[in-house]
Amino acid sequence: MPKDNIRKRILVVGGGLAGSFFAATSLKEGHFVDLVDHRHPKSASRIAAGMYNIVTGKKAVLTWRAEEFMENFNAFFDTEPFRALAQYLHKVPIYRPYHADEVQKEWGGLSQSPPFAGWVKHQSHPMPDMGFKDPRGGLLILPCGWLDTIRFLDHLQDILSRDFPCRVFREPFIHSEFDPNSITWKNEPPYHQVVFAEGTENRHNPWFNYVDVHPLKGQIMEFRTTSNLKDMVLLRKSYMIPNGDGTFVCGSTYEHHFEDLEPDEEGVNTLKNHAEQALNQSVEILNARAGERPSTRDRRPILGRHPIHEKLFFLNGLGTKGVLLAPTCAQWVLNLMNGDEEAIPKEARIERYLSSFKVH
Ligand SMILES: Cc1cc2nc3c(=O)[nH]c(=O)nc-3n(C[C@H](O)[C@H](O)[C@H](O)COP(=O)(O)OP(=O)(O)OC[C@H]3O[C@@H](n4cnc5c(N)ncnc54)[C@H](O)[C@@H]3O)c2cc1C
Repeated sequence: MPKDNIRKRILVVGGGLAGSFFAATSLKEGHFVDLVDHRHPKSASRIAAGMYNIVTGKKAVLTWRAEEFMENFNAFFDTEPFRALAQYLHKVPIYRPYHADEVQKEWGGLSQSPPFAGWVKHQSHPMPDMGFKDPRGGLLILPCGWLDTIRFLDHLQDILSRDFPCRVFREPFIHSEFDPNSITWKNEPPYHQVVFAEGTENRHNPWFNYVDVHPLKGQIMEFRTTSNLKDMVLLRKSYMIPNGDGTFVCGSTYEHHFEDLEPDEEGVNTLKNHAEQALNQSVEILNARAGERPSTRDRRPILGRHPIHEKLFFLNGLGTKGVLLAPTCAQWVLNLMNGDEEAIPKEARIERYLSSFKVH
């Protein structure tokens, strides 16, 4: 039963990582959920490499609120009835070979002290027999891995509709069929609240299109090679994720300007070069895919309530880190819906886009 004993009817639009984690969290709390998701095959959640990593960026910095995100992420897979979904979670460390002597020296000290101690391990010598170039050793980032997002989402939505009062509508949500004043959609009885988690398709949303969800294209390729890299992900300019059968996933590119969502020669060659340099051997490309991330210019998610229609909520802008961020962002939005006005950290609040909002 929810804390305030009110079991609400909640409509969730979008069933990528954001909407699906939100639906799961709300149902677990005792609410009723209708989830509308047309499962666009190019949606970010269905293209993603699925990596989660708490030390990121060229300079290797600890992710914003890393500990909180990691704790909630792990807790989700440790709770019934979602434990079965841990089969899609591959907990493996990430290895970043040092590219310069001073970087190696610096991490010798940094790895022992806050905030990194316990999260990383300094490897001062090359890893034996791994089949990649790491003459100066490297940094092992421990609480990391990757999620098979497609299988995870499909199975999660099955669990939601089987074990909870949840209906999953596999169809497009037509915005003109929704009335934001009565909170009604088609012929369904009124909802208490609605959450829009449409990723980059937010551009078609008449109530939230004032929010700049910035599309950031990414390409991913799969390749085969004889490297014996396994039980860890290699990160050198791009991720090299071993599938365990001699094939690897390599991603991703970051493209702010693009014309379509297809992989192209330039993107695939970039990834191929990264893989060949990192592994020090040639690779055979098997396939490639591309999609767009719902990112933001300040790299913080966009969460909150509509400025006028107070029963309409927004869960978007998960950018390059949807896997790690989604469980916590979903909980924050649910807490706001439950009346906790301080639930969302200031940096992630939708109010930072208010100057672009116009009343029509
Ligand atoms: C190439 C690439 C690589 C990536 N790699 C990683 C990675 O390794 N790790 C990581 O954490 N993140 C990664 N990401 C980012 C990650 O995919 C996103 O942060 C995350 O998936 C965003 O989830 P979302 O639910 O907000 O949006 P989306 O995944 O876009 O989901 C939106 C969903 O809503 C549905 N929808 C939208 N509008 C409607 C409508 N009107 N009616 C019905 N349904 C609708 C869509 O079909 C879709 O299913 C990557 C992204 C790309 C493109």
